[in-house]
Amino acid sequence: MNSKPGEYYLLYTDCIAVKGAARSSIVDLLREDLYFISNELYDLILELRNAPLDTLKMDYDELSWPMFDAYIGFLQENDLGFWTTDPQRFPPMSLQWDHPSLITNAIIDVKKESDHDLEDIFQQLEHLGCRDIQFRYYDTTPIAEIATIMNLLETSRIKSVEFIFKYSKACTKKALYHLTQKYFRIKTITIHGSPKDETYVMRRASDRCGMGNIMYLKQDIDSNRHCGQISERYFSISGVKAFTEAINYNSCLNRKIAIDYDGSIKNCPTLEKSYGNVKQQKLHAAINDEFKQWWYIKKDQIEVCQVCEFRYVCTDCRAFVKGALDKPLKCSYNPYTLSWG
Ligand code: SF4
Ligand code: SF4
Repeated sequence: MNSKPGEYYLLYTDCIAVKGAARSSIVDLLREDLYFISNELYDLILELRNAPLDTLKMDYDELSWPMFDAYIGFLQENDLGFWTTDPQRFPPMSLQWDHPSLITNAIIDVKKESDHDLEDIFQQLEHLGCRDIQFRYYDTTPIAEIATIMNLLETSRIKSVEFIFKYSKACTKKALYHLTQKYFRIKTITIHGSPKDETYVMRRASDRCGMGNIMYLKQDIDSNRHCGQISERYFSISGVKAFTEAINYNSCLNRKIAIDYDGSIKNCPTLEKSYGNVKQQKLHAAINDEFKQWWYIKKDQIEVCQVCEFRYVCTDCRAFVKGALDKPLKCSYNPYTLSWG
């Protein structure tokens, strides 16, 4: 530890400390990493913004100084911050979130009996400014349809498309890889009911970072009841946008619109409430104040989640809950005991 008199130790602006009930975390938004720290270190990080380390130490017994050095050593080893004599020059990053689009993401559910007019739906989503679409096919394998869908989107502003569909022998890695190579806007293809679990992730260093992934899951996903799983593997440490959105809005439902397999317009296919059917109703007309109320339920309002160190990297499912502001039922994490299950 090489601190000089009068030096403050600050976290990098994109390394954000989040306090939990029993421990805290530091979310490194640039390198997409999460570190666990004690709540004492969390408090020290806050104090170090207002006082240099040498001044701060004077307020404590000398016996506690080695603990200070160990804490700072941890932050230095992981390259989470820097020394400065002028902290005013490094104000914290704004944690506000906004987006010019009324809708940023959409889910379209499909079953054998669905007869969605995708061309019309895409035009409407384009008009709303939607950027990401997820298709979920529960009982079919639409390999041949993927090309048609992607061609319809070719001149749109949609930037990413995810497909979830049922395994068939046609779902060879070669066939799926061919699709992801031909259509660069495919983010992920997830095949459920596969003979084995396998994941092929594009290297982050590639020019298509985060895109073109292929996942085979043994689990069957035969209805929207499978959605809403909360687990560490689904945490999203994917940059400032998602993190600040989770601080200010609902991390699943904000600016989302869903079209259920029968055309019902919803916040998400699992929620009961429908705001009309896309066959008769325009999407923008469905987005009224009642529709938007889900957008504003944030993690800081939710029982238990509000003291969880994962709260801004975790999805907030509102479809499987007991009460309006209760923790998602599919989460088994206890932030008081730090245990899952
Ligand atoms: S609210 Fe729950 S069920 Fe609905 S889309 Fe989000 S995670 Fe899935
Ligand atoms: S307690 Fe809440 S924030 Fe924490 S992991 Fe569970 S759902 Fe996510």
